[in-house]
Amino acid sequence: MSNKTLTLGQAAAWCGGQIAPELEERPFFGANFDSRLIRPGELFAALPGARDGHDFAASALERGAAAVLASRPVDGPAIYVEDTSRALRDIARGYRESLPCRCVGITGSVGKTTTKEMIAAVLRTALRTQWTEKNYNNEIGLPVSVLRLKPDCEAAVLEMGMNHFGELSVLTRIAQPDLAVITNIGTMHIENLGSREGILRAKLEILEGLRPGGRVIFNGDDALLRPLAARYHAVCFGLSEGCDVRASRVCESAEGSKFTVHAFGKSFEAALSVPGLHNVLDALAAAAVGLLLGLSPEQIAEGLRSYAPLRQRVSHAAGMTIIDDCYNAGPESMRAALRVLAGTPTEGRRIAVLGGMLELGDFAPELHAGVGREAAKTADLLLAYGPCSECYVQGAHEAGLAGARAFATHDALVAALEETCRAGDTLLFKGSHGMHMEQVLARLLKTK
Ligand code: ATP
Ligand code: MG
Repeated sequence: MSNKTLTLGQAAAWCGGQIAPELEERPFFGANFDSRLIRPGELFAALPGARDGHDFAASALERGAAAVLASRPVDGPAIYVEDTSRALRDIARGYRESLPCRCVGITGSVGKTTTKEMIAAVLRTALRTQWTEKNYNNEIGLPVSVLRLKPDCEAAVLEMGMNHFGELSVLTRIAQPDLAVITNIGTMHIENLGSREGILRAKLEILEGLRPGGRVIFNGDDALLRPLAARYHAVCFGLSEGCDVRASRVCESAEGSKFTVHAFGKSFEAALSVPGLHNVLDALAAAAVGLLLGLSPEQIAEGLRSYAPLRQRVSHAAGMTIIDDCYNAGPESMRAALRVLAGTPTEGRRIAVLGGMLELGDFAPELHAGVGREAAKTADLLLAYGPCSECYVQGAHEAGLAGARAFATHDALVAALEETCRAGDTLLFKGSHGMHMEQVLARLLKTK
């Protein structure tokens, strides 16, 4: 097909849908399942859910939708299918197959969004690059991300999230990556996947959609991934000896890191304006992608320099240094953030303000206690909130941190913070999304 215009007839053919003959040639570009976000000319996918998407078909058409992807009659232009979610995926897969761009798929337990942003920062120095917006990384988000790729896009950087078996298999068959990055195998979603081996198996599903000749990029420091590198002919990134893309002479400071990248016989200097060794690892994955897509060391270094963090911000307020990492948390990213707290110079105390980590199932008490023990090594004070906050405290006490306390409500935590924090202190705020630690931080800053 021509890449220039995507027609409703083409979409109907990809998903086996029914369409009125007079609509066949009507062009469309892009899709969404949220009628409030529909842009003129997009396809509105009426998906099932708490509120049936068909109820919003009229408002999507009012906003200029080209047509509705529907499974029951709607008033207006439509492609009719039995299963609209499946059809949306089929249309995205058909579209991706027609695109000439190189696609990079990213999965892993932590660091997907960070790595995606760094890869995009690198690739856009040399290629027309598009990347996943928002958190459009699941079975309904990824098709939307794919359908937004412009015909002249040269590199697509797509995040692939998952929390159960079989999900990544579906996503990778849509995106058909030329390069697949696995950031690490941690403990996020262990509740559904049973064990770290289960998580590994689920992440490896990304290989099922890899294009012929495609390459996989593994974290070579990861104990579960490293032994598989030879079998999958993987490019490994990491700090350990033998990694294909490796960093040495890492110089960390509160402002960021400087390091030397060694890869495929070349060495070059790179710098990031965000602190933490975990970010250096994500940057190495981005360097690996850049090199495999033919970018020069200069372009890679320039891209990494331009990377601006979305997730982890360090700021100063009321004389305190604030590490704001409230977006989400699991055991691995908690440890990474505690290392950043440890490495941040402070005139006062280091205070860890930690919300609970969700979706850890039966493993939750021990994993929280482990983070508590870790916090005891770096923090002078631990203030915890959420369902497993007592376990953080127990772990911290075991490891000798007397100043650890748990709070049942935001109100109680904010009150304790107001009473405790002083100018000169350095505070880390972090917790699972559902803990809303950003609200605690905002309330503290208002009163200080
Ligand atoms: P989600 O599952 O919510 O989409 P994600 O995998 O996209 O998460 P990010 O949003 O990039 O991950 O980062 C989540 C947290 O993990 C942040 O606190 C970030 O600083 C931290 N992080 C990023 N990269 C790593 C890494 N390589 N190792 C450990 N922690 C990391
Ligand atoms: Mg993400």
